Amino acid sequence: MSVSSRRAEIATGLGAVRSHIAESAMAAGREPGDVTLVVVTKTFPADDIRLLHELGVRDVGENRHPEAGIKAAALADLDLTWHFVGRLQTNKAGPVASYADVVESVDSDRLARRLGASARRAGRTVGCLVQANLDPGDAAAGRGGAAPDSVAALADTVAGIDGLVLCGVMGVAPLGQPAAPAFKRLADLGRLVRLAHPGAHVMSAGMSGDFPEAIAAGATHVRVGSAILGRRPALR
Ligand SMILES: *Cc1c(COP(=O)(O)O)cnc(C)c1O
Repeated sequence: MSVSSRRAEIATGLGAVRSHIAESAMAAGREPGDVTLVVVTKTFPADDIRLLHELGVRDVGENRHPEAGIKAAALADLDLTWHFVGRLQTNKAGPVASYADVVESVDSDRLARRLGASARRAGRTVGCLVQANLDPGDAAAGRGGAAPDSVAALADTVAGIDGLVLCGVMGVAPLGQPAAPAFKRLADLGRLVRLAHPGAHVMSAGMSGDFPEAIAAGATHVRVGSAILGRRPALR
């Protein structure tokens, strides 16, 4: 496909998602500008991210190392905010802390401590969201996240680590269940975290299939990939 037709395709998807975000915000009595769109670019080439940047996107999400780091290095000339949204093994925390601006998937003390140590070594500050497992009956499903009753304590830990800034909470709606109640539980966890950390205002929730429900529940950030960029090849 030519660059100009790919650009047109992305512009169409992006325009539709932006309008839908604005409608969902207004329907919830919120300001459209209060919802940040993070475009999840995993599996898509760096050239697509350049086109997104030309179309005004500044927040992008990736879920795998080293794919994320390779793209961040190739696009270092752009003013992008890189969100790491995938499950992160502790042994990859070091490299990820060298390019991620926000790690949305912090789900253990051990990971937080490794990220903090690596951020300090790199002379960087990394924003962190505590990922809550919104499907506690199915912890083995592999979507990651801390048990809901441990989220507040993990937030305290993150907030106490030099090199990290606690920004809020993140969640992924459980497969095959209605999303709205899960997002409401995440919003409640976000409020709980803010009792001790009033600045941790971020609630990252909602993907292509459920971002309107997330916005209704109070999401400040939605993570949308396929609705903008098209179908991904099947993920491993
Ligand atoms: C892939 C991914 C998304 C985006 O999913 P789409 O359905 O393509 O919008 C959002 N969040 C996380 C954590 C992801 O891994």
